[in-house]
Amino acid sequence: MLKAEIIAIGSELLTPYRSDTNSLWLTQRLNSVGIDVHQKTIVGDDEARMEDAVKSALSRSDVVISTGGLGPTEDDLTRKVFARVTGRQLLLDYAVLEEIRERFASRGYKMTPNNERQALVPAGATVLSNPNGSAPGVKMEHDGRLIVLLPGPPRENQPMFDTFVMPELERISRGVRLARRVLKVTGLGESHLDDLIAPIYTEYSNPVTTILFTDSEVEIHLTATSDSYSRAEELATELTDKLVEKLGYYVYTTTGELLEEVIGAGLRKREMTLATAESCTGGLVAERITRVPGSSDYFVGGMVTYSNDAKNSLLGVPKEMIEELGPVSGEVAEAMARGVRQRSGATVGISVTGVAGPGGGTDAVPVGTVYVGLADDVVSGNRRLVLGGDRHLIRWRASTAALEMVRRRYLV
Ligand code: ATP
Repeated sequence: MLKAEIIAIGSELLTPYRSDTNSLWLTQRLNSVGIDVHQKTIVGDDEARMEDAVKSALSRSDVVISTGGLGPTEDDLTRKVFARVTGRQLLLDYAVLEEIRERFASRGYKMTPNNERQALVPAGATVLSNPNGSAPGVKMEHDGRLIVLLPGPPRENQPMFDTFVMPELERISRGVRLARRVLKVTGLGESHLDDLIAPIYTEYSNPVTTILFTDSEVEIHLTATSDSYSRAEELATELTDKLVEKLGYYVYTTTGELLEEVIGAGLRKREMTLATAESCTGGLVAERITRVPGSSDYFVGGMVTYSNDAKNSLLGVPKEMIEELGPVSGEVAEAMARGVRQRSGATVGISVTGVAGPGGGTDAVPVGTVYVGLADDVVSGNRRLVLGGDRHLIRWRASTAALEMVRRRYLV
């Protein structure tokens, strides 16, 4: 497989205020045609360091892509450094100069002399026009390697890359075909999960398996490569099936959907509707459900009942129950779910009540204690969880637990 390398150029990327997102986007595009990214470098607007980075990249990678540093100012050094390292002269391209001049004229500005610098192109290189900005890109070949210099702003470099670079990458990746699967798992801890599946996926070098741990779930990414799509698909399906067989209902998708999308599709199919009653999550469950376009098909509405009074007056949770058992209790969670279901007319009501912290915990009900409740027209139930993490994480994990309760109860 071809090896690619990305150099993100710009001193602002070495500050805490800007991050290099270009390389993420480019990596996704490169991977989609079977080209792996082996190294990424971030380098400031410093000629010597940049030269170092470019030389090293060219010594080991088949495709080298830089972003940034193509503008008209003194510190935009990219063209100069690449030209020097590849032993090319920088030549003024009159067609590019004219384009830049016209761009300025069409907006009623006069071109300043420093903008001429953007028309300097390494000898023998191809200019990539930039309809969304003034700095054109550059593409050239050097010792059998492909070099691409892109401007920094994503809205400029992305269309440029797709138009001028992707077709060439597809051609030079020599027919490598990819099949991917994204399995998402919830309800299993990292070490437990790895214990279960490591004996399976380590048997395979193709597909390649990558495991990503996120806030409340785990993603297993599989990438299979072959010289035909059908063979790559076969390889990916074989390992996916084995993993799903092992993990069972803990896997909620093999094609990368969000949990709320999977739940939405399941509710729609079963013609069920949902309503939410939330305390410590403050509406997060409802927000996640309604992120999905078309969620009005199955989501009736939600209530945020933060105080004890609101739990009583809006959801009908008995005052005595709250006083006796506390607002963070299984009974109250269930009563909230029943209350919202009855009042909204939904098929199913779900609820969350808990202590997100950092204050408010007691010995009996420590920070992170969360009850999720569920009610339909026949039964109601609740589940107690003690979640780790800060306030943000506890709220997020609690919302996942509430959604997951619906999936496990009705949709698997
Ligand atoms: P132009 O002259 O058209 O702005 P340029 O090639 O000179 O292009 P830079 O000046 O290096 O680009 O960067 C311009 C802006 O592009 C930055 O302020 C930043 O917002 C964005 N940018 C640059 N590099 C990256 C990166 N690696 N990831 C995400 N955004 C980036």
